[in-house]
Amino acid sequence: ETARIGVTGLAVMGRNLARNLARNGCPVAVHNRTYARTQALLDEHGDEGTFVPAGSAEELVASLERPRKLLLMVKAGAPTDAVVEEFAALLEPGDILVDGGNAHFEDTRRREAALRERGLHFVGTGISGGEEGALHGPSLMPGGTAEAYRELAPLLERIAARAPDGAPCTTHVGTDGAGHFVKMVHNGIEYADMQLIGEAYDLLRRVAGWSSARIAETFRSWNRGRLDSYLIEITAEVLTHTDTRTGEPFVDVVADQAEQKGTGRWTVQHALGLGVPVPGIADAVFARSQSGNTRLRSAAAPLAGPRDAAPLEPHEAEEFAGLVEQALYASKVIAYAQGWDLIRAGGEEYGWDIDPGAMAAIWRAGCIIRAAFLDRIRAAYAQTPRLPTLLADPEFGRELGAAQDAWRTTVSEAVRRGVPVPGMAGALAYYDGLRADRLPAALTQAQRDFFGAHTYRRVDRAGVFHTRWDADRTEVEED
Ligand code: NDP
Repeated sequence: ETARIGVTGLAVMGRNLARNLARNGCPVAVHNRTYARTQALLDEHGDEGTFVPAGSAEELVASLERPRKLLLMVKAGAPTDAVVEEFAALLEPGDILVDGGNAHFEDTRRREAALRERGLHFVGTGISGGEEGALHGPSLMPGGTAEAYRELAPLLERIAARAPDGAPCTTHVGTDGAGHFVKMVHNGIEYADMQLIGEAYDLLRRVAGWSSARIAETFRSWNRGRLDSYLIEITAEVLTHTDTRTGEPFVDVVADQAEQKGTGRWTVQHALGLGVPVPGIADAVFARSQSGNTRLRSAAAPLAGPRDAAPLEPHEAEEFAGLVEQALYASKVIAYAQGWDLIRAGGEEYGWDIDPGAMAAIWRAGCIIRAAFLDRIRAAYAQTPRLPTLLADPEFGRELGAAQDAWRTTVSEAVRRGVPVPGMAGALAYYDGLRADRLPAALTQAQRDFFGAHTYRRVDRAGVFHTRWDADRTEVEED
C-alpha cells in the first residue's frame, strides 16, 4: 500500500500520465497487460519519481492506498469492458475506477451504473491534449459521483494544465457520462474551428492570392489578437513548413482528403437526437467527408463555375484579409455558441448539472481548442449563469454586430468566386436565422398541414388548427 494511484495501460497516454503523476510527487503504481511496457517505463523514466511496478492486476490492486484509485488507459471499446471487469472483481466498495480512454459517453453511463450496483465508483474522464498534454498537463473532464471527485481532485489538479490565471484545468463535470459527453462536444467544436480556419486560409490563398508563407504571417498577427489560440498558432507553423522532399510549401504536397476518427460524427448524431442545431459542427464533419469522396469529386470536377479568377490587387488583398479575420472570428463565436448549446441540452437530457462557464475555464489550457477566447466565454457565463445562448452575451453580441458587414462581404466574395465556405456561410445563416422576425417555417407548417394534416399554430390565437385542404378549405380547431 505505497502508491496513491495506479495506472493500467502504459501505451503513449497511460505512460505519460503516469510520468506526470510521478514527476509531481505522487507515487504511482504502474501496470500493463504486456509487462514489457512497464519495464520500458521504469528503464527510461524510472528516475523521474516513485513508480511501483506491478506484474499482475492483483499486485497492482494490492499496492494502492484506500480508497483505491485506478486509472485505466487502455483501448476504448471492448478492451475497456474487459479491463473494467478484470479490476472490478478485485476492488472493494468505495474504490474508484477512472476510465481516461476515449469512451463513448453512453458506454460510460452503462459502466457507471453497473459498477455503482457493486459499490464501486466509476469515473469516466475526458482527456484532451494528446500525448504532450498527458505529460505536461492535459485538460481533464471527469464525470462521476461528487464523492469520487473529492477523492481524486488533489491528484487531478496536480497533473492538469494550468490556465493563465493559474487555475487547474479540471473540474467535476457532472455524474456518470458527463465528462465523456463534454469531451465529445469539445472535439466537435474542434472540428468546426479547424474547418473555419481552413476556409480563411483558402480565401487568402485563392482570393487574396497570397503564398502560404504570407498567410502564415497573417495568422501569426491574428494570433496576437482576439483569435489567439493553439489552432491558429499551429496553422502558422504548418504554413511555414517546407516539404523536405520537394522544397514546396508542405501544405501543397499533402493530399486534400481529410480523415476523421469519429468524435465529430458522434457529436452531430447526438445533437440530431436532442434536436439541437449544430450546423457549424455538422458542416465541418460533412466537409471532411466530401473532401475524401473521390468518386463525387472526380465526377463533378468538370462542372461549370468560376475557377482561377485573378487575385485581388495588393492593396485590396490587404483589406480583404481584414474582412476575413472578422468573418473567421464571428463564425467562431457562432460555432462555440452551438457547442455550448449542445452541452446545455445534454445536461438537461441526462440530468447533469453542468456549469457552462466551468467548461470554458477548463478548456483555457491543455486541450486542442485552448484559446484566449475561452476566458471570454467563462466570463460571459460568470456574469449570466443562465445565458440562453452565447449570442445573448452583450459583449459577443456587440462583436457580431460589428463584424457582420465584413462577414457578409467575405461570404459574398467567396460565393462569387466559387470558393466553398460552408462554415462561414452556415454560421451567418445561423445568425440571421436566429435574429429573424419571421422565418419561412410558417410555410413549412402550412405545407405539412396540406399533405399530411400535421396541423399548425396561429400567430393570433392559441390552439392547434388544421385546414381542410381537400374539401372546402375551412379551418377546424383540433382538441
Ligand atoms: P491505445 O489506444 O493504442 O491502447 C493501447 C493500450 O491498451 C496498451 O496498453 C494495451 O496493452 C492496452 N490494451 C488493449 N487491449 C487490451 C486488453 N484487451 N486488455 C488489456 N489491455 C489492453 O493507447 P493510447 O495510449 O493511444 O490511448 C489509451 C486510451 O486513451 C485510448 O482509449 C485512447 O482512445 C485514449 N486517448 C488517447 C489520446 C491520444 O492522443 N492518443 C488522447 C486522449 C485519450 P498491451 O501493451 O498489452 O497491448
